[in-house]
Amino acid sequence: MRLLELGADLTALTWPVAARLLPERLEISENRAFWVSGTPDYQPRPPLRGPTHADLAIIGGGFTGVSTAYHVSRRFPERRIVLLEAATLANGASGRNGGMMLNWVNGIDASDPALTQRIYHLTRDGIASIRAVIERHALPVDYRTDGTVTVYTDPGRAEAAHAHVEAENALGIPTRFLTSAELQRRLAIRGGCGAVLDPDTGQLNGAQFVRALRPVLEAQGVQVYEGTSVLRVREGSPHRLTTPQGEVTAQAIVLATNGYTSKLGYFRDALFPLHSHVLATAPLTEAQRAELGWHSLAGFADDLDRISYASLTPAGNLIFGGGSNAAYAYLFNNRTAYPGGSATARKAHAAMEQTLRRYFPAGGALPIAYRWSGVLGITMNRQPLFGVRGDAANIYYALGYCGHGVTLANLAGEFIADLYAGDDSRWRGLPFYQSRYHRIPPEPFRWFGYQGYTRLTGRSPRL
Ligand SMILES: Cc1cc2nc3c(=O)[nH]c(=O)nc-3n(C[C@H](O)[C@H](O)[C@H](O)COP(=O)(O)OP(=O)(O)OC[C@H]3O[C@@H](n4cnc5c(N)ncnc54)[C@H](O)[C@@H]3O)c2cc1C
Repeated sequence: MRLLELGADLTALTWPVAARLLPERLEISENRAFWVSGTPDYQPRPPLRGPTHADLAIIGGGFTGVSTAYHVSRRFPERRIVLLEAATLANGASGRNGGMMLNWVNGIDASDPALTQRIYHLTRDGIASIRAVIERHALPVDYRTDGTVTVYTDPGRAEAAHAHVEAENALGIPTRFLTSAELQRRLAIRGGCGAVLDPDTGQLNGAQFVRALRPVLEAQGVQVYEGTSVLRVREGSPHRLTTPQGEVTAQAIVLATNGYTSKLGYFRDALFPLHSHVLATAPLTEAQRAELGWHSLAGFADDLDRISYASLTPAGNLIFGGGSNAAYAYLFNNRTAYPGGSATARKAHAAMEQTLRRYFPAGGALPIAYRWSGVLGITMNRQPLFGVRGDAANIYYALGYCGHGVTLANLAGEFIADLYAGDDSRWRGLPFYQSRYHRIPPEPFRWFGYQGYTRLTGRSPRL
């Protein structure tokens, strides 16, 4: 039996003094993202008090945890499923992101035609599945699927993207190359030499989606506990999860904690929490959107290492993220709460506003109404990790989605439900399923490595 203790298990750290001074503790800051303003009446469920038992205990209440609870409870209505969330549902990245609902998986070899086709179909079905859940339960969720573009800021890269689109079209993938003039008619972005349109992608309000699913989960028999951090996992038969006021004994568990996972003692050498900043405007009038040059499309990302991305809500709020090294941060010892309102946060948001103005000169006058940050789970090769582990192969996980978690973390629920049912045929052979991962060095090398890479190269890990 292994003992994994939050804040006390220091065995994986190689710098004992720093580790003793700065033990790993789960910290989750309050969510001030635009997305939660769409759930004004949301009231969290009470924490777990006392002992309880579950066939399946899910740790984490974002897309991964909620989609797992949804799909497993539909397929196994007789099983007792418990979902434990440290703060409130969607308080993590699922309720703080850039909202872009995209195809593709980062880090995949796009030169392999069969794999490209398989990945495209997988993620396209993932987006369709999110829409199907919204429609099936008539969930009050703002979303759009009128297409997003990748904007190329260099003529050579635009030309290469054009050729790549032709290769994708030959595989039946319906992407479209937009010339600079075609792009400007949809999105008048300065410096855009061309773009690739992915027509069925879009934008999702993740906080509304996750929170609107809670009554559906409860109707399917899932017990949801909020304000309930899992402090310790003692693997065994059954597993024992310690929470501040209770304990869960569970036959199987799910790690649905993405960027926070190292705090549970798992995947410390596989993924690290990267803080990413976002800002959102108040709803823009039609005249403001026209002046900005945003005529159609749900969103865009550029082709740079310090990726900029933006999307527009159905009500007209412009969401903007990235665009400079300051927009991303790694904090020593995997810290998971960013000091919001600090000088560095202000600097990050100021740098982002500058990038926004560079792309859209009229952006200088935009009414910025929200500024926030969130934690992504990043792996070295940018591929996610999907699988099952433990002596009895009953600790399921899906994490490390980098910047594509809106689609992938919702697909994770279907993945875990398949594995729980004993059928992995849909997932076998995918490079991120049950894969070996590239190890990330421990502290302090991790922190120095991140600082060195970003400062010396001027680049951030492309999400
Ligand atoms: C700023 C930002 C912008 C992004 N933009 C995009 C985008 O535009 N498109 C895209 O596809 N992806 C984007 N992403 C990534 C995407 O949002 C995530 O990959 C996805 O939401 C991960 O979902 P999750 O449920 O796995 O993790 P999370 O949503 O982070 O949920 C994990 C949950 O676990 C809880 N938890 C952690 N530890 C414990 C514990 N010990 N006990 C109980 N609960 C615990 C946390 O409170 C949290 O609610 C972005 C992420 C960020 C941060």
